[in-house]
Amino acid sequence: MGHKETPGHQASHRHRPTVDSLRQRPRAQVLIIGGGINGVGTFRDLALQGVDVALVERGDYCQGASGASSHMIHGGIRYLENGEFRLVRESVVERNRLLRIAPHYVKPLQTTIPIFSTFSGILSAPLRFLTHKQQGKPKERGAFLIKAGLTLYDSFSRDGGNVPCHEFRGRKRALAELPKLHPGIKYTATYFDASVHNPERLTLDVLQDGEKAGGGTKSGTAEANARASNYVSLVSHQKPATAAGTGTTVQLRDELTGELFDFTADVIVNTTGAWVDLTNQAMGAASAFMGGTKGSHIVLDHPGLLAACNGREIFFEHTDGRIVLIYPMGDRVLVGTTDIDADMSQDAVCTDAEIDYFFELIGHVFPDISVDRGQIVYTFSGVRPLPKHDETQPGFVSRDYRIERQRTQQGSAAVAGSGSGTVLSLVGGKWTTFRALAEHLSDDVLAELGMQRRISTAKLAIGGGARFPETEAGVQKWIKAHMSPSRDAARAAVLLTRYGTRAEEVISYLEAGPDRLLHSTRELSVRELEFIAQHEQIGHLVDVLIRRTSLAFRGLVTGELLNEIAEVLAVPLGWDAAARATEIRHAQEVLNRFHGVQVHSLVA
Ligand SMILES: Cc1cc2nc3c(=O)[nH]c(=O)nc-3n(C[C@H](O)[C@H](O)[C@H](O)COP(=O)(O)OP(=O)(O)OC[C@H]3O[C@@H](n4cnc5c(N)ncnc54)[C@H](O)[C@@H]3O)c2cc1C
Repeated sequence: MGHKETPGHQASHRHRPTVDSLRQRPRAQVLIIGGGINGVGTFRDLALQGVDVALVERGDYCQGASGASSHMIHGGIRYLENGEFRLVRESVVERNRLLRIAPHYVKPLQTTIPIFSTFSGILSAPLRFLTHKQQGKPKERGAFLIKAGLTLYDSFSRDGGNVPCHEFRGRKRALAELPKLHPGIKYTATYFDASVHNPERLTLDVLQDGEKAGGGTKSGTAEANARASNYVSLVSHQKPATAAGTGTTVQLRDELTGELFDFTADVIVNTTGAWVDLTNQAMGAASAFMGGTKGSHIVLDHPGLLAACNGREIFFEHTDGRIVLIYPMGDRVLVGTTDIDADMSQDAVCTDAEIDYFFELIGHVFPDISVDRGQIVYTFSGVRPLPKHDETQPGFVSRDYRIERQRTQQGSAAVAGSGSGTVLSLVGGKWTTFRALAEHLSDDVLAELGMQRRISTAKLAIGGGARFPETEAGVQKWIKAHMSPSRDAARAAVLLTRYGTRAEEVISYLEAGPDRLLHSTRELSVRELEFIAQHEQIGHLVDVLIRRTSLAFRGLVTGELLNEIAEVLAVPLGWDAAARATEIRHAQEVLNRFHGVQVHSLVA
């Protein structure tokens, strides 16, 4: 399990074009299992190379680790002390690229480290470089060590001078900038990283770019060269290969109807994150690659804490040596995270003990700010797809990725070198590096298929990041240009934030018929929900609350909102009264069980 949002839930038996597109032509060169950012990134890359590729995700896209991250697109300064120079270098290059190719969702993030000592950690950190193991309880990282790390980081990270150098402040100036900080600090260090404000929608943009590249005007049909469906899982590989005799045939299940069907591919790419070994086991290709760790976060509605951060990420070492963070995301504050060896037989949820830990860490840097559980509007938790680790403590396990190649049993009887019967499993892979990783993984696939790369994605804008205004003045100009008698500046801004420049396509749809804002929120309209239902693969009501909008993340889901969205979606999605009630109950259950949110129902 490890977070799967109520498996086996079947609310409707509706026909989905995305599933039909797989069933009607049950073969592709490549089948990707797992629709987190790494699977979806690889899907886009392969589609752009002209490969016939299919992808299945057993829940919703970005429902696993990709929807549970700290939202940082970062070089990973702390990986320097693990000696992971390759990863840090790739990460900062990718961070700088994502700021350019996905500017609608990836924004610069000013980050401040409060520092309580001058020399600590100087001896323990180099030892970690050498051994990659944690020697006893970590020593606090003092100013000298942080200075050395940031100087090295700057040398990787400056992007030809576009990214400012880090800056150190003494106590007095630091407290002038951030007056609520603990008065016992000695210094602060400030530098720039980035954050992804809407990881779920960025994943969807990457997916849709892939569909477009492979389908032209025919995307979502069996003829398309890039087909993807959520709520379809890989169940097993039991059947012999098809008449052609090459490839691996696996059994897939439509999770909304329970129907099973076969699908054959020359190469299977296993990007199921923390579930990689379980997926391989289901395919008869046993592996023991993974050793995931669980991490949780809370989201607070706390204006005092928000103001104390002054727009910055506060990134620091807690008393147990773990690096933790507090940072503003819109009008909410994100606090995280933990790092605990995961038990994959349990759902990943944020526990009471983790909440206590978060409150304690807030007190460590902002001792005068009090927090209580009533200010938590949302919690989330996920399992990092890390490699198997024995002695190394979770926080020091390598964050780099690798690709493992195996042959399936039936594949081993297939023609050698033809690429048939091959399974490539991804072990690791952070959000930050997804584009570069996708390029590496798809290069391996191309080698299996005997094909050449046609195009790099390094400079290709992603979805609504194309032509996105570069300055605040540009944003205001866009908003003004897209206002109308029925669309005020606030509504135009919501659409630009939610879709980037894809908002133009959404606005055309809104204008093609009578529309009105919902009664329960001014952030959605009836036609916008119809657009989402038609274009964004909605399996369940909860997908709209958590992953197509940020309403759940910001604690804005009410009983009235659930009812109204379910009522509007019922038309395009064909939900009868019973299915609607089931969807509402399912959303309440998911929000309660996985996100600590209680929404009282208005329906019996
Ligand atoms: C707490 C936490 C904080 C993090 N913070 C950051 C950060 O700040 N910055 C950063 O760069 N990275 C961060 N990461 C790491 C990053 O989020 C992950 O490494 C990345 O999202 C992994 O993506 P993925 O696509 O490989 O895996 P996932 O997103 O987990 O996707 C795997 C998918 O496979 C699907 N699946 C499983 N089994 C099957 C099956 N049988 N059939 C079909 N589908 C299946 C799952 O439903 C899932 O959606 C963090 C991770 C966590 C957990």
